[in-house]
Amino acid sequence: MNIIRKWSWLVLVVTVFSLVFMAAGCSSGTSKGVQSGSNALVAASAPLTIQVLDVGQGDAILIRAKDQVVLVDTGDVPARDKLVSMLKSQGITTIDKLLITHPHADHIGGAAAVFQQFTVKQIYDSGLKSTSNLYKQYLTQIQKKSIPFTVVSAGMTIDLGNEILLKVLAPEAPFIGGSEPDLNNNSIVAKLVYRNFSLLLTGDAESEAEERMLKKDASALKSTLLKSGHHGSRTSSSMAFLQAVTPEAAFISVGANNDYHHPHPSTLKKYKEKKIDVYRTDTDGTLTVVSDGKAYTITKER
Ligand SMILES: [Zn+2]
Repeated sequence: MNIIRKWSWLVLVVTVFSLVFMAAGCSSGTSKGVQSGSNALVAASAPLTIQVLDVGQGDAILIRAKDQVVLVDTGDVPARDKLVSMLKSQGITTIDKLLITHPHADHIGGAAAVFQQFTVKQIYDSGLKSTSNLYKQYLTQIQKKSIPFTVVSAGMTIDLGNEILLKVLAPEAPFIGGSEPDLNNNSIVAKLVYRNFSLLLTGDAESEAEERMLKKDASALKSTLLKSGHHGSRTSSSMAFLQAVTPEAAFISVGANNDYHHPHPSTLKKYKEKKIDVYRTDTDGTLTVVSDGKAYTITKER
């Protein structure tokens, strides 16, 4: 083999390796697609489907993994019948895991109806108590039905099977607010991870909670998508927090013309500056995300 043929051979080998490497690089990136249309577009066969349900002013997020149905928060009392019918319309009879981010009415308001209409196999909450009647009813139902109850804190991982994990990032002791813990700021914050895809669930965590998580491990916050903290309030979504999460899109679960004026214009401005696409349940209806662990699509109900 003369020197020219040797070089040609080397160039060919290098070119083939480069092409293979580039192809691998391209396919490992996260791609996205946004659609709008019917809420019925839930891909039953997809490995992971997430729905930010339109429950008005409140949070209720449905996660459907291959073998598990997980509900994060239950919306407020006025939306409880709507929540039940949304779940039933998908053929759901059992909720494998119910996670309550914190015991405010707009997160536990639908719990009694959920306990009544579905078999709930396991509850996760922060362990923080409220003096409200709604919270007392919630506890009474759990005791009456003997539902296993786990208090979660930062560092725990909830396994949803098939490589889908819920990594808990907050709260942790000592609770924010000391002897009178602030319920919002001690919300359960959990990162739903499926291979290269992730969604950060924040409950109503506000800037104090964001600061604590940033100090502890800012890199752990990085997520493909974000459920906006505290319904897009100006007390959440600090610039430093958004910088760490760097989501491609954010979901704001919020009621039309709500009394709290959520989301706040300053929060929307920050999202715009950071080029984060915003989806809102008041204008877009229920938002559905389907992912195969690499790519994802977001579908708006309207
Ligand atoms: Zn709330």
